[in-house]
Amino acid sequence: MLELSPLPYAEDALAPHIGAETLAFHYGKHHKGYVDKVNKLVDGTELDALSLVPLIRKVAGDRSKKTLFNNAAQVWNHDFYWRSMSPKGGGKPRGALAEKIDSELGGYDKFRKRFKEAATGQFGSGYCWLVVGDTGRLEIYGSPNAETPVAGNDEVPLLTADLWEHAYYLDHRNERDAYIDAFLDHLVDWDFAAANLASVASLKAGQAVPAK
Ligand code: FE
Repeated sequence: MLELSPLPYAEDALAPHIGAETLAFHYGKHHKGYVDKVNKLVDGTELDALSLVPLIRKVAGDRSKKTLFNNAAQVWNHDFYWRSMSPKGGGKPRGALAEKIDSELGGYDKFRKRFKEAATGQFGSGYCWLVVGDTGRLEIYGSPNAETPVAGNDEVPLLTADLWEHAYYLDHRNERDAYIDAFLDHLVDWDFAAANLASVASLKAGQAVPAK
């Protein structure tokens, strides 16, 4: 049985960039719905014993388990997305992550441009990710629907932006670029991303869970 993780801040804490009504529905209806669906699908099966990431990896690539994969991946992706934001977020990274962005991506401004291009260029629903790839270098990319980097074990995600319309439509309507500006300028939690970077070694060893 999975449990719905608590939202790490109040539903109105990200306003006006992401309003309370968005979070009430996105967390309380969408995210909760994914948890409930997974629990319904695994109930009475041996899959019920697995925790979330092992479950995602077990059913990834199995066409007969696609609905279970999608819902389980969405549970993980949303947990990770909530923690990728903070009421005191936004702005530029510091420390080792800032240095890595400087040396591998050409600096914060280039990171910002590439992240925004990947987010606005992702057709339809999905996520935009900053990850440490299998080469150990930073990568930015958009992924469709429920796809998640933790389905494999060659990437370590540092942060994500949910690109589904349910993430931004009430606050920004159809303007995904305005939502991404708000995400980067006011919400992104660089401390969370830095903690994920710092734990790359243990994450690479198979403990692919978000930093606490
Ligand atoms: Fe979502």
